[in-house]
Amino acid sequence: MRSSLRLLLPAAALVLAAAARAQTAPVNGVRPARLIIHNATVVDGNGTPAKGPFDIVVEGNTITQLIPLDAVSAGRNPAARRARADANTAEIDATGKYVLPGLIDAHAHLQDERGGTPQPIEYEFKIWLASGITAVRDVGSSTPKALAWRDSSAKGTLAAPRIFVYPQFGRPTNADSARARVRALKAMGADGIKLLGIDRDIMRVMEDEAHKEGLRVAHHVGVEETNAWDDIHFGTTSIEHWYGIPDAAIPDGVQAFPASYNYNNETDRFRWAGHLWREADPERLDMVLDSMVAHHVAWVPTFDIYEASRDLQRAQTQPWFKDYLHPTLAEYFKPDPANHGSYFFGWSSTDETYWKENYRIWMNAVREFARKGGLVGAGDDAGFIYQMYGFGLIRELELHQEAGFSPIKVIQHATGNNALILGEESELGRVRQGYKADLIVVNGNPLENLKVLYATGVDDIKDGHAVHTGGVEWTIKDGIPYHGPTLLRQVKEMVAKARAARGTKADKADGSRPR
Ligand SMILES: [Zn+2]
Repeated sequence: MRSSLRLLLPAAALVLAAAARAQTAPVNGVRPARLIIHNATVVDGNGTPAKGPFDIVVEGNTITQLIPLDAVSAGRNPAARRARADANTAEIDATGKYVLPGLIDAHAHLQDERGGTPQPIEYEFKIWLASGITAVRDVGSSTPKALAWRDSSAKGTLAAPRIFVYPQFGRPTNADSARARVRALKAMGADGIKLLGIDRDIMRVMEDEAHKEGLRVAHHVGVEETNAWDDIHFGTTSIEHWYGIPDAAIPDGVQAFPASYNYNNETDRFRWAGHLWREADPERLDMVLDSMVAHHVAWVPTFDIYEASRDLQRAQTQPWFKDYLHPTLAEYFKPDPANHGSYFFGWSSTDETYWKENYRIWMNAVREFARKGGLVGAGDDAGFIYQMYGFGLIRELELHQEAGFSPIKVIQHATGNNALILGEESELGRVRQGYKADLIVVNGNPLENLKVLYATGVDDIKDGHAVHTGGVEWTIKDGIPYHGPTLLRQVKEMVAKARAARGTKADKADGSRPR
């Protein structure tokens, strides 16, 4: 094509070149040598306002140029300054669209089964990519599989976000076995370690060993011997969820549980968790938050994963369940004492009322923590308690806004801040020259409405007409463009087939009809 052009008259060559250009849209899942995103308004991951438009040039897997075009007057930008395509260039027209760093889910679980029933891992990967998620911190799954998926994703042979593997630490019983476990995880290739329920003496030595091995530590503090003071003293990277923080501020050291309380009864556990924040002494809480800031303990609150506790009906009737909820996940969500997080037996208006208050205090604490200089990340813990992959993270962003953060800061939580928590801040989480090409092209302005980030889009009025818009048009991970609507269609087909295979009607598969 290029060589034959030289033989043609200049005018004909121009027409042909224009025709060729029209065909240079990226191919879903194929990394072009060069990619130009034209005329993009950029929201960076560092908490700064929207700016642009820019032509963003990606070569291989790296952002190589951000060419500023004039925001007001196109005439002030000589056409020569615009990025030019050649035969090896794919192009995306981002006129009227917003480009953000790829979203990072700081609290995810790789799940190829639920409750022992298989669920294709591609289901989770595709929803993630369709939702603009280009990296996940896996905080507990099957470690050998997670490491294999991580490596295939890194090679570009698997359509998936970047994966950072933080295996569950387990429960070593003495100091030597704790240190050995840390070294074994390092040798296996883990990126970090996830703690869930641990005694103080074991935590002290494991964190010491983890620091020596250069492994970060994410701690889901249970109601247990340790609390946020231990994370502060021993050097935890991030506290997951929220337990351990109010606990550290309870004057008597333990919550006022009823005598019949049993931690291993999940209905008990989640019901009384709804009373936890009100028992935290505000002055003590202030000290805890100050100390977390001073000792660089980040906080990944995962507001979304407890939302069913404050509004069960909302959680059970989310609109994307209709077409995108896999029957395996739907079955897992139904109240069943055998499944973690499926604890809604006798869940009452009183429980929801306590939880609503619990959220108010919790959200204020997260907001206060950030104001003090604390690092807040965003993760969704999807796959449990009525939260779907991808959709859960966007819901999490909405809840960060509800907690009092402006959308600019909310986007920073899911991009730049999460990159800091991962220790990847020099390569990920920014729309910046030299950074990895993890970018999303959004149909709409997320600063105006975070809901435009939902893969299923939003309804709006344009020029007097009702339109369906929004959604992530392109998710570019490591320079590989993935077309959001195409992936979402594939997910829908996958779900329809799985439902047909087990004779589940769509209207019975939404998890909203507990049996
Ligand atoms: Zn989790």
